[in-house]
Amino acid sequence: MAKFDYDIGVIGGGAAGLTVASGASQLGAKTLLIEKEEHLGGDCLHYGCVPSKTLIKSASVYQLMKESAAYGLPAVDPGPVDFARVAERIRSVIERIQKHDSVDRFCRLGVWTEFGPARFADEHSVEVGDKVFTAAKWVIASGSSPAAPPVPGLSEIDYLTNREIFSLDRLQESLIVLGAGPIAIEMAQSFNRLGSRVEVVQRSGQILSKEDRDMADTVMEKMAAEGVRFHLNSKVRGVKKEGGEIVLSYEDKNGREIEVRGEKILVALGRSPNIEGMNLEAVGIDHDRRGIKVDARLRTSQSHIYAAGDVNGVFQFTHVAGYEAGVVVSNAVFHLPRKVNYALVPWCTYTRPELASIGMNEKMAEKSEAEHRVVIEEFSDNDRHLAEGGGAGRLKLILGPRDRPLGVQILGIHAGDLLAEWVAAMNGKVGLSTIAAAIHPYPTLGEINKRVCGSVLSEKIFSARVRKALTFFFNFKGRACKPGDLN
Ligand SMILES: Cc1cc2nc3c(=O)[nH]c(=O)nc-3n(C[C@H](O)[C@H](O)[C@H](O)COP(=O)(O)OP(=O)(O)OC[C@H]3O[C@@H](n4cnc5c(N)ncnc54)[C@H](O)[C@@H]3O)c2cc1C
Repeated sequence: MAKFDYDIGVIGGGAAGLTVASGASQLGAKTLLIEKEEHLGGDCLHYGCVPSKTLIKSASVYQLMKESAAYGLPAVDPGPVDFARVAERIRSVIERIQKHDSVDRFCRLGVWTEFGPARFADEHSVEVGDKVFTAAKWVIASGSSPAAPPVPGLSEIDYLTNREIFSLDRLQESLIVLGAGPIAIEMAQSFNRLGSRVEVVQRSGQILSKEDRDMADTVMEKMAAEGVRFHLNSKVRGVKKEGGEIVLSYEDKNGREIEVRGEKILVALGRSPNIEGMNLEAVGIDHDRRGIKVDARLRTSQSHIYAAGDVNGVFQFTHVAGYEAGVVVSNAVFHLPRKVNYALVPWCTYTRPELASIGMNEKMAEKSEAEHRVVIEEFSDNDRHLAEGGGAGRLKLILGPRDRPLGVQILGIHAGDLLAEWVAAMNGKVGLSTIAAAIHPYPTLGEINKRVCGSVLSEKIFSARVRKALTFFFNFKGRACKPGDLN
């Protein structure tokens, strides 16, 4: 008789859990999937990537309508936004994607799904309500939730997080956004574009603080030009409700007390791992406030229990959750030791302009003291960018010894898609000369990638030394035209 009911049990039906479950089951492991909520899909589908990108699209179409005259079109007054209809569109996109993440589909893949909060009874047994399931191996993929910062007064008011913001029944007249990370900034721009008056309050002196300052500042300048107000270097003192309004008070860098007022407040100040109620202490799984501690093979302090996705607190992206799920399947199902390698994790903030990144940025290169130089290519030299009316745009290439790319940051329209070529090149260790020599379709933004590589190589090709050698060997006569000849 089998010792355990299942070969592998997965806790959490989001990006990481679904990928582990489908992979394990298709490889022949008897797989159980446990999801706390009523539907599979997790935060990304219901309260994260999908609703936020759908909202961003609605907001950018509305913005384009308002900017129609800049494209040589009749100026239009599109009228106020009915947010209930935007929320309806968000719901319909979620519903369509939900079909890929249905219990039916997972059953066809061989996975048994149970709904309810999972709680460890012992190292191999997990309770869901009054049922107990045993598995040889477990994977905790329970994700994260918005962190509740210790701001005086916050727990006494009705504040918004990413769980409520996509299903509002009407557009708020004004919105305070607490935090300036990717989620906060994407939402601030979208709600401002849709017509809310938005004020962003941030403790440090920079938005998107992981990014290089020049790139993040360009995003901020664009948003400020559209009407978002920024309060940087702000020490929040507290929030309260006063006369139907939220009042947030902070101390600015000069020690002055400032008040910001808004109809609602969106709190986007980081994430906490979903570990509450799982009885991790009882089974000896180490964790801290950031998440469940894992080794390079994503094993927890109980080596038959793995943790993947947001819950381990390393990177909190859907694509990283998917990557980590693959590493778990290798280790737990294939029994092929595989370690995570986060050196080339790309990410993108979907503002206008977008800000995408892979590898080291300038800030990281300076901190690591790695030998490096920075090459910048402005989007303004790209024909397609001009045709699109693309606004601010810049690519920063961080080069290491022998011009090996250490990292790339791209700011501009479709930056996330433009980054794909660098994802392939850096993972495949493709040199700049290959990208520079490859034929790219004209006119595309992709030519920016080719051009920056070309500019690095042209420093060598068109150097005085090469010119001198060619002149010597082939007896070239030199310039046919010099500045001033045309006067
Ligand atoms: C507004 C917003 C926008 C985002 N945009 C992007 C983006 O554009 N790109 C990107 O890469 N990432 C984005 N993210 C991050 C992304 O959503 C997460 O990184 C991703 O969802 C993590 O996947 P996961 O499987 O670890 O967790 P989740 O997808 O959250 O899945 C965890 C699942 O576990 C379940 N669960 C929790 N506790 C238990 C329990 N005790 N028992 C059973 N089940 C449990 C939860 O209900 C949930 O369904 C965004 C996040 C937010 C909030």
